[in-house]
Amino acid sequence: MQVHDKVFRPFIDAKTIQARVAELGKQIDKDYEGKRPLFIAILNGSFVFASDLFRHITIDAEISFIKLASYKGTSSTGNVITSIGMEEAVTGRHVVLLEDIIDTGKTLHAFLPEIVHRQPASLKIATFLSKPDALQYEVKADYVGFEVPNKFVLGYGLDYDGLGRNIPELYELAE
Ligand code: 5GP
Ligand code: MG
Repeated sequence: MQVHDKVFRPFIDAKTIQARVAELGKQIDKDYEGKRPLFIAILNGSFVFASDLFRHITIDAEISFIKLASYKGTSSTGNVITSIGMEEAVTGRHVVLLEDIIDTGKTLHAFLPEIVHRQPASLKIATFLSKPDALQYEVKADYVGFEVPNKFVLGYGLDYDGLGRNIPELYELAE
């Protein structure tokens, strides 16, 4: 399959993805019994994962969506990550962050302090994908859909330059 200038090949089929997301959902459903968790999905990439996962939650639960924006700090600290749309009160809540993929870990590593600062009762991370070989920052996901090799992937919410998010299965870049 061609997207923009690159060729991608099938990697994880839709049925396998759905089965795994159902499994994760049921696990979280069990772990958060009586805790009324607040899911916070990080846009854009996680919207498909969040939507599917959330429908496997049967306990009382809330979901909210944020965007992360990175800008160059004025000092030598480099990029600063700030959230847009985080209006939900996080203090005292059991928060589960939903991510599409943890690659180097840089994004979450930079953003986590902002959430921690608001003193949630607990904080866990659920990510659809993680690339253990690409990890450069100390970020540990509590729920991982699939661990994948260090290759660019596309589909199920993940894009290549804006395209491919609507593909129900996962593709990987063909060499
Ligand atoms: P990190 O900050 O962990 O290096 O990168 C996280 C973000 O980079 C993800 O939320 C995602 O938007 C993007 N990303 C990392 N790897 C991939 C990939 O293989 N495919 C796509 N489509 N996006 C990726
Ligand atoms: Mg993302």
